[in-house]
Amino acid sequence: MASVFPAVIPTAPPCSAELADEPPLIPDDMHPPVDKSEDMDRFCLKLSVYLKKEDIERVCSAYRFSDEAHRGQLRISGHPYISHPLAVAETLADWHLDTQALTAALLHDVMEDTAITKDEIAARFGKTTAELVDGVSKIDRLENQSYEEAQAENYRKMLLAMARDVRVILIKLADRLHNMNTLDAVRPDKRRRIARETLDIYAPIANRLGLNPLCRELQELSFRHMYPLRYQVLAKAVKAARGNRREVVGKILQAIEKRLPECGIEAEVKGREKNLYSIYRKMRDKHLTFSQVLDIYGFRIIVNDTPSCYLALGALHGLYKPIPGKFKDYIAIPKGNGYQSLHTALIGPYGTPVEVQIRTTDMHHIAQSGVASHWLYKDDHAFDQLQQTTHRWLQSLIELQSASHDTAEFLEHVKFDLFPTEVYVFTPRGRILSLPRGATPVDFAYAVHTDIGNRCVACHINFEPMPLRTELRNGDRVEIVTAPHAGPNPSWLAYVRTGKARAQIRHFLKTRQTEESAALGERLLARALAELGHATGSVENSAWEKFLADTNARSRREVCTDIGLGLRLASVIARHLLARDDSAQPELRKAGSMIIRGTEGVAVKLATCCQPIPGDPIIGMIRKGQGLVVHTHDCPTLAKLSGTKTEWIDVEWAPGIDRMFEVRIRVLAQNVRGVLAKLAAGIAEAGSNIVDVRMEDDGATTSLYFVLQVTDRQRLAGIMRNLRRIPEVIRIARIKE
Ligand code: MN
Repeated sequence: MASVFPAVIPTAPPCSAELADEPPLIPDDMHPPVDKSEDMDRFCLKLSVYLKKEDIERVCSAYRFSDEAHRGQLRISGHPYISHPLAVAETLADWHLDTQALTAALLHDVMEDTAITKDEIAARFGKTTAELVDGVSKIDRLENQSYEEAQAENYRKMLLAMARDVRVILIKLADRLHNMNTLDAVRPDKRRRIARETLDIYAPIANRLGLNPLCRELQELSFRHMYPLRYQVLAKAVKAARGNRREVVGKILQAIEKRLPECGIEAEVKGREKNLYSIYRKMRDKHLTFSQVLDIYGFRIIVNDTPSCYLALGALHGLYKPIPGKFKDYIAIPKGNGYQSLHTALIGPYGTPVEVQIRTTDMHHIAQSGVASHWLYKDDHAFDQLQQTTHRWLQSLIELQSASHDTAEFLEHVKFDLFPTEVYVFTPRGRILSLPRGATPVDFAYAVHTDIGNRCVACHINFEPMPLRTELRNGDRVEIVTAPHAGPNPSWLAYVRTGKARAQIRHFLKTRQTEESAALGERLLARALAELGHATGSVENSAWEKFLADTNARSRREVCTDIGLGLRLASVIARHLLARDDSAQPELRKAGSMIIRGTEGVAVKLATCCQPIPGDPIIGMIRKGQGLVVHTHDCPTLAKLSGTKTEWIDVEWAPGIDRMFEVRIRVLAQNVRGVLAKLAAGIAEAGSNIVDVRMEDDGATTSLYFVLQVTDRQRLAGIMRNLRRIPEVIRIARIKE
């Protein structure tokens, strides 16, 4: 019986040197070539299955070109270099990729390793092929650039090239597969680094594109090179256990194969073996023993059509008892990478757990070759849906790129997206969205639409109001409440799980900070001009133009933003605009204070040390890149900062501010039962909310630290008065440090 998977369980090798000659996961035709012409013959034979004669000739001419270009170069293994591009092209031929992709695969290293340029490739093999080769070529490392920075730039380039043409990543994955297969020749430290990178980046991409066997093969090879000892121990243990398993597998297989036709279902049934990496991962992540992992028996049933999947499920549940909560319908709700199947778990003979996957032939093709099924099974409409979801994902990468600040941020967003989508939730209109495990209503809101995310203020999950940080569960119905002037909260970044939500929140905050800083800068400049006895309007246009030219600033707005961010000093600019000499001591007039409302947004920050509230005497401080920070006059941190280069601004509270501010107080009380309840009651009575409370026992006394919400100083005084009346209270103080 031919297995559905490549034979994933290797025979236990005594040492890794022998492994090189006995790669466990790879079909024979992937061995490093010994005889060039023999390899070429085999390659052409594969092409002849699906390409026209003239196309084969074109591919062969690319082979000769590449062979010529790489002449004299050897791989670390000692083989002629051309053996590598040929092996890469062969993998692509297995997926029936077109001439352009095959040509690009054969040429994929010439730009990096030989003198041939992109233009030469374009002239000879066409522009598209040249773009494909460019997409897989690394960028030259810049001077002063660390290895990590250069690597991050390369990933970004590759991911964006892939978003434009998915064939780029197919070439890159085939390239990585061959490199992983020939890794034994490489230095051990480099070997581990490449294996780690494969596990972190390439295997998840293969998985995201539905290339499941390739993903598993890359994981298995990475595992072998990262932890050679653990790999050997597991391989040995699996081999030893196989004898015992065979009998059980045979018995279950027979029972299923007998039952299905009885129910009128035509099916193909196969036993599945786990690969070593997945056994290792289950043992590590779920703290299971080897036998707990291995004693689960896997089977796959392939039927002709979708209704038969559900019929087969019914037949199986009649044969063995299903384990509750283990059934998953990935047919009705496919995984993000297009994967479809029914999954169930049963209690088999002797009480052994049995896992079964049920799918149709089409679903099986997608499960095995993902996006590559576009080339492998050209005429089939079953793959339209898959093409669409893949296209959407690739587009979202481009969106992420435009919303990301730099390469590191972009990569972080992408990594968030690479892990398999696992939670399925519903919109109020019944549309299904798939989100990564751990996703929150904020992720959901951004998945529906960027505007919904940006305006989101609250949510209902299954008709109940719930906090925005709630982790969503399968089947939740999520409704987002929006408000027209709401904006994302920086604290959301702590719990969102999708790349899109993270990128959009950061993007929004950055844009808003610029706007708010510009508004603040304008006010600060007006104030500085007033101190010199001028209104803003009295500055001549020509003075502004001269100023912009002198300072290389692009616009007035940019200047104001810089003032608001604390990058330029308003007083210096005011003097410059009025053409005053800096050395002459200007006669300053009292320009009045800046008015603070506490709703200025990110440009005006209330200091977290002293937490000023309306009614407190306050002072503003402008520090580089931070904008305006408001402290109380008696803030202890302020005294420490006075020596540093800062600009001080007179500020005062606007009258009648109507919002809550947070303050901290410390209450020293006798350590008796029920004192916290009394304090809490006193606070509530005075009309305040408790945001947080922390207690420190000290034997006879106890210190209680409260974070409260109050509108102003008067209200706070009222609360403290209330609390002093409680007999157990010894001392109360506001905390400003
Ligand atoms: Mn290569």
